[in-house]
Amino acid sequence: MESEVLFLANKVVTLNETDLIKLKEYYSPYLVDSYPQGALFAIRVEGCTITAYRSGKVLFQGKKSETEAEKWIQFDIAETKPIIKKTRYSPPERISTMSVIGSDEVGTGDYFGPITVAAVYVAKEKISTLQSLGVKDSKKLSDNQIIALAGKLIQTVPYSLLILKNEKYNELQQSGMSQGKMKAMLHNQAIDHVCKKIAPKEPEAILIDQFVEPSIYFRHNLNKDIPFQDRTFFITKAESIHVSVAIASIISRYAFLKEIEKLSEMAGFPLPKGAGKIVDEACAKLIEIKGKEALSTFTKRHFANTKKALSIYEK
Ligand code: MG
Repeated sequence: MESEVLFLANKVVTLNETDLIKLKEYYSPYLVDSYPQGALFAIRVEGCTITAYRSGKVLFQGKKSETEAEKWIQFDIAETKPIIKKTRYSPPERISTMSVIGSDEVGTGDYFGPITVAAVYVAKEKISTLQSLGVKDSKKLSDNQIIALAGKLIQTVPYSLLILKNEKYNELQQSGMSQGKMKAMLHNQAIDHVCKKIAPKEPEAILIDQFVEPSIYFRHNLNKDIPFQDRTFFITKAESIHVSVAIASIISRYAFLKEIEKLSEMAGFPLPKGAGKIVDEACAKLIEIKGKEALSTFTKRHFANTKKALSIYEK
């Protein structure tokens, strides 16, 4: 019974060197001579024995351990350190200075228009030159900036651009394929194309702007050739990690804009991006002009917008 009480009354806090000294000073009148091997010092106050170890761990024992430990919890390194979940797919520290193939996609959340995926190779010697062109996340650039930049970039870097048009998208979706699988297959295909373009040169790493768990990504590509799987990394917001992903996001957005432009011309009026209310209304208008059948050419038909547009149209 006694030992159980003691066990329950144990508390451990991990401190850095500075805070260990602080703690020692704070309790200096209560330092004791005997302490276990491996310990730096020990303290005995009423209801609590405190033992500090070289590792920074401080053990509080006794019925007042909770109260005493409480005073030091704010300094606990283990508690204040942000928890970054690293996996074997997390990019290495120095990836931003490596020769990398990066990939990104656009259009997955847009009702009108295709999904566009680009993969881009940037050799390390070219990183700073490309950065000086003003390459950054495509979401932070205006459409005009995207068009101007993309024009330069496609002449500068080896890349692959894939456009999954609405007809094909709807066909695949109808056959039971998830959008996630479509994306995974497109990324892999684009990356594979770039690998072949730059061969016999090899990328030091492949960086995918993460849209799915890596294990699921690879499962979606199970029966495909996956180039350099052992050096493929995933991270969200990858465009801020390596310029190749930033360029991939610019090229894929550029292609998406061009496709929307073409579709708008076919529709006879500008088609909005996204999947909001304006999109429902534009779709109702499209049905009025082109008929329901046209939706497979212009839209990702399984989106909820179709139902909403039909109900607007039928009113
Ligand atoms: Mg992305």
